[in-house]
Amino acid sequence: MTTPAVIIHGGFFSELTTSQETKTAKQNALRHIIRQTWAFLQTHSALETTIFACTLLEDDPLFNAGTGSQIQSDGVIRMSASICDGESQKFSGVINIENVKNPILVAEKLLSREDRILAGEGALNFAREQGFGPFDTRTELRIQDYEQKKSELVKTGTVGCVALDHQGRLAASTSTGGKGFEIVGRVSDSATVAGNYANAFCGVSTTGVGEDIVNGAVAAKIVTRVTDGMSLQQAVDKTFKELLPFDGFAGIIAIDHQGNMMQKDSHPNIVYAMKNAGTEEIFG
Ligand code: ASP
Repeated sequence: MTTPAVIIHGGFFSELTTSQETKTAKQNALRHIIRQTWAFLQTHSALETTIFACTLLEDDPLFNAGTGSQIQSDGVIRMSASICDGESQKFSGVINIENVKNPILVAEKLLSREDRILAGEGALNFAREQGFGPFDTRTELRIQDYEQKKSELVKTGTVGCVALDHQGRLAASTSTGGKGFEIVGRVSDSATVAGNYANAFCGVSTTGVGEDIVNGAVAAKIVTRVTDGMSLQQAVDKTFKELLPFDGFAGIIAIDHQGNMMQKDSHPNIVYAMKNAGTEEIFG
């Protein structure tokens, strides 16, 4: 039996002005969610657990995923989410899906299908076929943010979970409303193997600027390096070093098959929480 572990993140701060109040609210929300997720992991697989955690994070309007997602430049919310099951080595994801409550649950439905990633209208049609009804994920706060962003700098924020279960299986899930105010058609890293990846050796979920994360192939690189024998710490450090030449803006959470948990960000401000049998830590 493996000693299970779970780590979640609430992304970088996505508001234009991050107050101490928002930070504390996000930390409190993560504390609550990591405890629920930990309890869930005791009787469920890593795969089920990461989906469970992302659903809770998507439903919390504080985070930029599901309800409370960032609004794109044309005033529409388009969300992306993906799952990577380290046991079956299957990845599934939805890109730029509109008007559903939980994109991660749509990605889950795809895990058993032959097609791995669906985008836009196709993703929405699939969701409706699977019984996911219309849902408006806009919140008052995001609408205000959008109005301000019409003339200002955009920041980021996303959610994710990596879990190692009692059987030693790893999984990673990530969900996002995107970086905010993006050009219509822009593709986030969150539903690619650069943003979310797991196998039998390691699982990684990322947040940050999707373009930098894709440029650095962040999650896939870390997982591959651990698979090939590097320690998790070395794999993460080397991958972050490779972001330096282009000042890549990224944050990760990761767990390896031995239960080592790690978080790292290139620029401070990611909020995250980790838990195993011995520790519970909330950071941000
Ligand atoms: N990585 C996400 C994206 O670029 C945003 C984020 O993590 O905050 O779509």
